[in-house]
Amino acid sequence: MPTTPINQLTGIGPAAEDTLHKTGIFTLWDLLLHLPLRYEDRTQLTPSHLLQVGQLIQVEGTISRCQELPSRRPVHLLTLQGDGFSIALRFLNYAKWAHILPKVGTRIRVFGQLNRDMSGELTLLHPNIVRLDGRNPPALPDTLTAVYPSVGTLKQGLLRKAINDGLQRLKQAPPAELLPQQTHQLSLVQALTAIHLARPGDAIALTIGSHPAVQRLALEELTAQQLLAMNARAAFANSRAIALQPTQDQCAQLTAALPFSLTKGQQQVWQDIQQDLTQAHPMHRLLQGDVGSGKTVLAALAAVHAASSGVQTSIMAPTEILAEQLHATLAPWLEPLGIPCQLLTASSKAADKRKALVGISDGSIHVIVGTHALFQEQVQYKNLGLVVVDEQHRFGVEQRLALKNKGTQESLIPHLLLMTATPIPRTLAMSFYGDLNISSLTERPPGRQPIETVVIPDARREAVADRLATACQKGTQAYWVCPFIVESETFDAQNVSDTAQWLKSRYPALRVGLVHGQLSGKEKDKQMQAFKAGMLDLLVATTVIEVGVNVPNATLMVIDNSERYGLAQLHQLRGRVGRGTGKSSCVLLYKHPVSETGHARLEAIRNSQDGFVLAEQDLHLRGPGEVLGTRQTGLSEWRVADLLRDTALHQPAKLMAAQIAQQNPEHVQPLIQRWLGNKLRFVQA
Ligand code: ADP
Ligand code: MG
Repeated sequence: MPTTPINQLTGIGPAAEDTLHKTGIFTLWDLLLHLPLRYEDRTQLTPSHLLQVGQLIQVEGTISRCQELPSRRPVHLLTLQGDGFSIALRFLNYAKWAHILPKVGTRIRVFGQLNRDMSGELTLLHPNIVRLDGRNPPALPDTLTAVYPSVGTLKQGLLRKAINDGLQRLKQAPPAELLPQQTHQLSLVQALTAIHLARPGDAIALTIGSHPAVQRLALEELTAQQLLAMNARAAFANSRAIALQPTQDQCAQLTAALPFSLTKGQQQVWQDIQQDLTQAHPMHRLLQGDVGSGKTVLAALAAVHAASSGVQTSIMAPTEILAEQLHATLAPWLEPLGIPCQLLTASSKAADKRKALVGISDGSIHVIVGTHALFQEQVQYKNLGLVVVDEQHRFGVEQRLALKNKGTQESLIPHLLLMTATPIPRTLAMSFYGDLNISSLTERPPGRQPIETVVIPDARREAVADRLATACQKGTQAYWVCPFIVESETFDAQNVSDTAQWLKSRYPALRVGLVHGQLSGKEKDKQMQAFKAGMLDLLVATTVIEVGVNVPNATLMVIDNSERYGLAQLHQLRGRVGRGTGKSSCVLLYKHPVSETGHARLEAIRNSQDGFVLAEQDLHLRGPGEVLGTRQTGLSEWRVADLLRDTALHQPAKLMAAQIAQQNPEHVQPLIQRWLGNKLRFVQA
């Protein structure tokens, strides 16, 4: 059954269950839609004459030697003797687990990326190990090994086992096929099996999403989305909103108080928004603007307009860090005008929460900033008139439906402003999102200098670090971005904590902070605030800083393993610098070997700063299986589909939705529930 709770699956105990819940995975179906990021081919052994440095290899052999190298931090070194080769297996920080490492004489199979150390010896760092000395040594797998986006600290092996078990269960009780049969050849079970237990040779098509199994799921998801949109359109056909007519000109007071004047583009967008807000029909507008283009001030103006018309505004961000940052920006703008602005997130203290909830329901708080918890919680507004959703472009059908319940007066719906830095070509957004109005900020605030971008091999890392340290001593703030690596035990990337440690010990005077996905919200926040306040010179971080973080004094960024990121992601990351008037630079460190598409990507990002241009190139340059997915950030708004990648499916999905509504109306709700049930849970609550 797709609805089977995950705790019934093999290997999912209470701790794992909890972790999965935090990622939004509750049922078997949710888990099966946790799609692989990439695949490793462990179906064959690498012949010794093909053992090449930089390649992923798999070999079998016997441990001939175990050493513990004397070092401040223990290094365990095992020698693997195979047929015609010898490889050193290196384990760092294994003091606690040393006892589980294989002993001399053990026969094992290892998988990992082959390196050569300084003495010229072949090495594998933290390879994946399969023991072959039991009574029934496991045979080579006949399917590819899926590598999943990380879920907290859960091991890949645990995810694989549970997903495998899930597939078996699904085979026994297949979910209903809700799309008209003639439109696809694969059943849901077949498609999911092809994705999780992939055949060698399918890896590329699966990773870039062109594989029929992915397309089949994407089509169903897009169809469900269209059905929901149709329902929403019907529900809102005659909807009305409060026409917001300010009784005093606080917006002018705000613009006068700002340390800058609005650009032409911002003025234009503000006119669009103002125009919408004064109508008795609910606004439904998407504001697109590249990172750093200055969207926040427009949200502020809209909120002030609403407040001076006597209604409340609720502003939502996808993560706590972003919500806190929005609040930190908005409160000093709004409160001097006498507009109380309150932060509310899931981790707000209970007492603060209670106070906030009271203020929201009695109307003494005019603007509420928070995460999506704002809708999930028992928030009762006195008179909600405007909702702003930051960093989201999925056109907010869910939000609109939720708003229907949150509006205070029967049948009056709040105005909705969506803001996103993810550029979607206008025509595409229009065709897919129908009744959405779009405003775009195409210019950057004045005084911005282009970000100088350089591409440098990792071998020169120390020189780069020295330059960074010197700049920091002169008052510059900097980011050092590392990929998030728990996704795979074999992925040889720079570990974020190791990097922070290395920089700290190399430059004792440097104040170094550390932010990654596994810190608690509070700890993350502490580090971010310290960085913002200038108490830290350098912030070592994973991609959690990707979206929306604003520290104008930070003008230097180093991105480790930059060859592993997609263009859009690099662009978003780079957008964290160049936000003030100072000259900013971005150093892209890369490690050999870099594929041709990898080269092309680095070339593109060095040459362009235009998010739209880069988004389009990204699609063409997506190297199969080598790019860290955006799904990894947990902010992807779709389960399988990708609006840009799957443009060709938009029209079919629309037609199919219409056909289903006509011919199989009984499938409409189940389809919406299957694909969007998670998001709708709070709408119906
Ligand atoms: P984003 O569109 O990425 O949300 P922000 O709203 O965070 O961008 O704005 C980025 C920076 O630009 C902020 O520091 C903001 O104060 C500043 N800014 C916004 N508008 C202008 C302007 N018209 N002139 C100068 N600086 C501006
Ligand atoms: Mg922003």
